[in-house]
Amino acid sequence: MTETTIIRFENVSKQFDDTTILDNVSFEIERGKFYTLLGPSGCGKTTILRLIAGFIEPTKGTIYINDKKVNKVPANERQVNTVFQDYALFPHLNVYENVAFGLRIKKMKKNVIDEKVKEALKFVNLEGYENREITEMSGGQRQRVAIARAIVNEPEVILLDEPLSALDLKLRTEMQYELRELQRRLGITFIFVTHDQEEALAMSDEIFVINKGKIQQSGTPTDIYDEPINRFVADFIGESNIIKGKMMKDFLVEFAGKQFECVDQGLNENEAVEIVIRPEDLEISVKEKANLHVRVDSQLFRGVHYEICCFDELGNEWLVHSTKKAEIGQEIGLRFDPEAIHVMRLGETEEEF
Ligand code: ATP
Repeated sequence: MTETTIIRFENVSKQFDDTTILDNVSFEIERGKFYTLLGPSGCGKTTILRLIAGFIEPTKGTIYINDKKVNKVPANERQVNTVFQDYALFPHLNVYENVAFGLRIKKMKKNVIDEKVKEALKFVNLEGYENREITEMSGGQRQRVAIARAIVNEPEVILLDEPLSALDLKLRTEMQYELRELQRRLGITFIFVTHDQEEALAMSDEIFVINKGKIQQSGTPTDIYDEPINRFVADFIGESNIIKGKMMKDFLVEFAGKQFECVDQGLNENEAVEIVIRPEDLEISVKEKANLHVRVDSQLFRGVHYEICCFDELGNEWLVHSTKKAEIGQEIGLRFDPEAIHVMRLGETEEEF
């Protein structure tokens, strides 16, 4: 716990009926950062948000907000606001009244409400939209009204549950920039839920990768992308070549029937490992300079690169991103740097999947 910690989960579990949805989860959230909870459908992301918001209580463990135990503190007494996936706006109220709603419940004075609503709408670039009906707003505009309604309460934390999932790709990308920029300007802690790994990598200061009710790995986007801790993370975040191998000694790993130099990753001699090499770290090269020889099985043109699927002599599949085109059936050489090889201990958390 540091001075900047705003939320802390200590060994938190949540069961519904007899099913464990969150299993002994511990983490800390720091003030003023953009966090993303990333994981496949049903892994427990929304459950974490609901626990933070105070909509549900943990079965075991303790939740702290600002160092105060909040397990029994009701939602309306927490400095936390939620932006829901469907925005949960009131369709019969106009933009102004939607944003003012929470302040009216708190019985604030009319002129104070007026000032706060105007300021919130300005923040999300919706000045002048006060009298618009919600039904006349686009998806992106509704999203901004929902955010204005959250920030008008001056919360310390805003929880966003897949707020971009209903938007088309172009608007979604725009809103990613907008949300990130808004968070920076506000300086409020954002906890954002998504199952889209690109979105998580693009937006976050910190990502928690979740699977089956456990946090698999937490870290910055580059930590998680470059140094996945296990097969699940390597597979879920970006595309990966994951090949079984063995540590020979420091700086030397065996896979695909050969030995390769690698950077030291603190593993023991003879330890069974899996290595990860990202497709963009493989380069097609002349055979003399190649580390591996493979045969091209198929390829797809992806605009920025060709996605080429190859097999080595031992039958391992290799995915390569290359600006050069290959021929199906062609034998090609692949080159990679020792730094491109990330070595993971085999089966570290495998049994949990
Ligand atoms: P998604 O991306 O699909 O929203 P998620 O990671 O947010 O998934 P959660 O909503 O946290 O997942 O749900 C995790 C699991 O808990 C799911 O299997 C869900 O069916 C179950 N669950 C959630 N709420 C309840 C409840 N009130 N009663 C019983 N089971 C529940």
